[in-house]
Amino acid sequence: MNIILIGPQASGKGTMAQRIEEEFGWPQISMGKLLRKEAGKNTKEGKWIGKLINSGIIVPSRLTTKILLGRLEKKDCIKGFQLDGYPRNIDNFRELKRYLAKKGETIGLVFFLRLSKKTAIRRLGSRIQCKKCERIYNTITLKPKRRGVCDRCGEKLIQRVDDRPKAIAKRFKLFRKQTMPIIKLLKKEYKIAEINAEVNVEKEYTQIRKTIKSALHASGAFT
Ligand SMILES: [Zn+2]
Repeated sequence: MNIILIGPQASGKGTMAQRIEEEFGWPQISMGKLLRKEAGKNTKEGKWIGKLINSGIIVPSRLTTKILLGRLEKKDCIKGFQLDGYPRNIDNFRELKRYLAKKGETIGLVFFLRLSKKTAIRRLGSRIQCKKCERIYNTITLKPKRRGVCDRCGEKLIQRVDDRPKAIAKRFKLFRKQTMPIIKLLKKEYKIAEINAEVNVEKEYTQIRKTIKSALHASGAFT
């Protein structure tokens, strides 16, 4: 099944994607991560993308689409994938639709993780992230096995600069402004599942799991 994940900072999106990947095997494809990876390459295009990202300029739609569709062609996406950070605009949306139609596929579910700004600010104060693999932890709700160390790769866990209250409030506002039109667009074509992200990680994932299972059941696929 192909999935789109939408949610503001602190909505547990990254964790939910990891859990979905672990249980169902559909890889998490984050557009931001893909772009950062591309920017790290020593090519003309990579350097240019790096420049755009560093100056806060949005990478052109045609380029993000090219990078994303290249990623979707990889073997691990055959049974499904999870998209995060794409589509961002109507061009992305159309390109994705066209790509999936060509393959006789569609988006099975769009998850919209609902969270209040207040909760986001409270949560992000305790959020830490692995320097290397970017796995997310929380000093209250999702502690690593060893304090300050990543369970997965053993690297140091750090707090991001953009996890400060002022930065969060700003991003939250921007998120609403940018995302609502996309959700409207996606609603026309796909099934949107609203998830209550105010609850803890376990309860949040239970909602997601249930939704996926019943969607798989309805489509006749059993896992
Ligand atoms: Zn790690």
